[in-house]
Order: sequence, then structure tokens, then C-alpha cells
Amino acid sequence: MKEPFMNQTPDPLNGLRVAVTVDDQFQWTGIPFPEGHGPKSVSRAMIEAFANHRVPEVYAFNSTAPTEDDPGALSILDDWCAAGHHVGNHTHQHISLNWLDVDTYLSDVDKSEEILRPWIERAPSRYFRYAFAMDGDTREKTRGVQTHLTRTGYLSSPVTLWFYDAQFAVAYQRALALGDREAQQWLEDALVQTAVDQTRRQAAAAARAIGRSPDHILLVHGTTVAGATLDRILAELARLGVEYITSEEAMRDPANAVGSPRTTRQFRNSSQKWAEFAGVALDDVPPAILAEVEEVAKIDGQSWNEVLGGATAEWAKRIPFTPMPSDFH
Ligand SMILES: [Zn+2]
Repeated sequence: MKEPFMNQTPDPLNGLRVAVTVDDQFQWTGIPFPEGHGPKSVSRAMIEAFANHRVPEVYAFNSTAPTEDDPGALSILDDWCAAGHHVGNHTHQHISLNWLDVDTYLSDVDKSEEILRPWIERAPSRYFRYAFAMDGDTREKTRGVQTHLTRTGYLSSPVTLWFYDAQFAVAYQRALALGDREAQQWLEDALVQTAVDQTRRQAAAAARAIGRSPDHILLVHGTTVAGATLDRILAELARLGVEYITSEEAMRDPANAVGSPRTTRQFRNSSQKWAEFAGVALDDVPPAILAEVEEVAKIDGQSWNEVLGGATAEWAKRIPFTPMPSDFH
């Protein structure tokens, strides 16, 4: 039986304006791509998906440390820009600002600029994205970094929507290593559903917290599983009424240009920070399905927490800091 019309609430996805961005096309130091996959194959799949769904001018925010061992990987940025997409700055080593002093963090920002300058110069805007979207555990640190960004002409590009694809990526790498096709298919299907569901929940919470529905900036990681599913995710979001816009359009919204009013050391996107600031409940973010994802294609020592922990320990050998796993809770 059809529900009476009066009980139907509009889907928050209908008419939602979303700029898409891609992070970490070279993955991270200590988390290489699965065998047979790499930045080139994933970036090609994504360029095709963006063309299929008319997603304009996607900014890529890549930590550049993984290209130290493979400078040739940078050539994917030529194809990326030739397809009409752009490149921003995302630090060299991808260490949270929580774990570093401002000067060390800024020298890591500048180091990445030196590597990416030829591509950053071609972009219509100079955008910077904080590693892990962590923009300072104290206001003083945020101000310190912001002062440098202003001096060097960068605007911070916040993430307002994400769907935990990096956690799926680790499970997908396990499934690929085991040759477990059933697990791969389950993860792909689950990621598509999770992407739609998380976008809907986070957009609804942001609208309630801010008092209007702002333009959004969605994050997708340049991982193998995201490359395999992005076409489906974009199709499903478009079917439900999402309109794809440029980052420049999204940045005209004060919600993005100014950022959220909440300072925290926890792993939160802007919509989550706004929800916490305004006391708006945000159920199932992060989603309960991540516990199931961890149970798929299990390999000893290769859970999301163990893989991320191993990677941050690698980074700490290059720039001394103490990783704080609790920041991800
Ligand atoms: Zn990142």
C-alpha cells in the first residue's frame, strides 16, 4: 500500500548541490596499491565516471610522499588536467595537524607545493585540504596555518560529505589479495549503498544544523574500490536528484568558505562539526556496516586500524610525531 502523501518527507538528496573532490590518488606511504592496480587505472576509471555523469572540474588533493619512490606516477596529473580536472595541495606526508606544531606542518605543505606547482598553477583556484580534514585541535593552530594559507594564496577546501571509502578500500585490498570475488562484489555493493545513505544523512544533518541546505563538497579517495564503484555511486546520486557543481560554486557558500564553528581534534567532516555545534543528532555516522566490512576477507594484521596504525608509524620515521589513534574515534 502506498503511504499517504502527507507522510512523505522530501528526500534531502533531491536538489542537493554537490562538488566532488578526490583525495590521495597515490594512496599513502605504507599503504601501497594492490598488485595489478595503481594510480593510473583508478584515475582513468574516475575520469570516465565523471564524464558519464557530467561532474565538472574535480579537484584532486594528493599527499605527495608516495611519489618519492615513483616520480613517474605524477604523470597521471597531466591526464587529469587534460580531462578538465584540477589539482590542489594536501600536504606531503599526510600527517594530522593535531600531531605536529604549526611550523613543521607548514613546511610539509610547502614541500608538496614544490612538487605539485606545475599542476597547481593551471587550476583556476588555489585550494588546500587538511590531511584527514583535521584543521587544528586548537584555534591558535588553525589560525597559524590559516595565516600561512592566506599569505600563499590558498583557500581551505573543507570536506562536508564523506562515506568512509578508505575503510572499504583496506577490506577490498584483502579481498583482492585472497582472490575472493564474492567478497569483492559484496564490498562494492555495500559501498554504493553506504555512499548514498551517508550522503543523505550528513546532508540532512547539515541542513538542520545550519538552518538551510548549503552547497556541499564530497570526498572520494583515489582507491581501487572507489575506482570500481564511482560510476555507480554518481549514477545513483544523480537519479535521486543530486546536481553536480564545481568547487568554485560550492566555495561561494559561506558554510564552506568560512568553515564550521567547532574546533575538535576528532576525525569529523564539516557537516558532523556543524551537527555537534548545533546539538543535532547524527545517527549511524560512521556507519555500523564498517564492523561488517572488517569481517570480510579477513587477513591477520590487516584490519583498517592495523593498516592505518602501520602507515602512521612509517610517517613518524620521516617526520617525528606521536600518532594518536583515539583521534579517529
Ligand atoms: Zn587525505
